[in-house]
Amino acid sequence: MNNNIINAAEEIFTRINNARDKAGRSDLEKIFFTAVSKTRNVDEMHEAEKFMHIDYFGENRVQEAESKNASFGEKRIPWRLIGHLQANKARKALEIFDYIDSLDSIELANRLNRIAGEMNKKVKVLIEINTSGEESKSGISRQNFNELVDNVIELENLGLEGFMTVGPLTEDKYAVRRAFAELRELAEHAREITGLELPVLSMGMSSDFELAILEGSTMVRIGSLLFGPRVYK
Ligand SMILES: *Cc1c(COP(=O)(O)O)cnc(C)c1O
Repeated sequence: MNNNIINAAEEIFTRINNARDKAGRSDLEKIFFTAVSKTRNVDEMHEAEKFMHIDYFGENRVQEAESKNASFGEKRIPWRLIGHLQANKARKALEIFDYIDSLDSIELANRLNRIAGEMNKKVKVLIEINTSGEESKSGISRQNFNELVDNVIELENLGLEGFMTVGPLTEDKYAVRRAFAELRELAEHAREITGLELPVLSMGMSSDFELAILEGSTMVRIGSLLFGPRVYK
């Protein structure tokens, strides 16, 4: 048994709740805990899954998730795709993942909708927004955001539940908070325009999840703080 993961999970869960209190948010407001399991093996994932306050696994590559999925066995919690999805992996992604959080173009939305139709299922999605404007980051730009929302809500096999962003890579807390506030504002605007609930704001990672919660995050995505530093082979 790997106590490190469970201990880390408990500590993170406490910090999530403390940040929510500090933000003056109700403790009835659930903040979902996505364990980012990229580069981790199936045993580590099974260990994390024992912690009842972890709600999802997040994976960023279809191929890696596919190989883990093959040997995983029974799942307690759903899996979310949080990395950029290439068109040619869309079908495979829909076989493995319960949620696609990285929807970032009209073409991808149309393709997912068509394949989901063929598979006879409805797919829950988040739209990923590039709030920092950093070119290395994926996600739809602010300028093209409204158009993507308008398109996605017309697609009958996609269920839009909210939005995701990755904060800028900087020590500047104000810049980080500004990016998260931007996601919240864009979401509020989209709710007004569409009349839909769109409740999910997936923002905040190991280094910035408390700032994200101060700005209204409803879902944090934690990798290295939970499992330890990532080693890429
Ligand atoms: C890797 C990753 C995370 C987790 O990052 P940590 O800093 O290890 O917590 C969260 N979101 C996305 C999109 C990622 O790719």
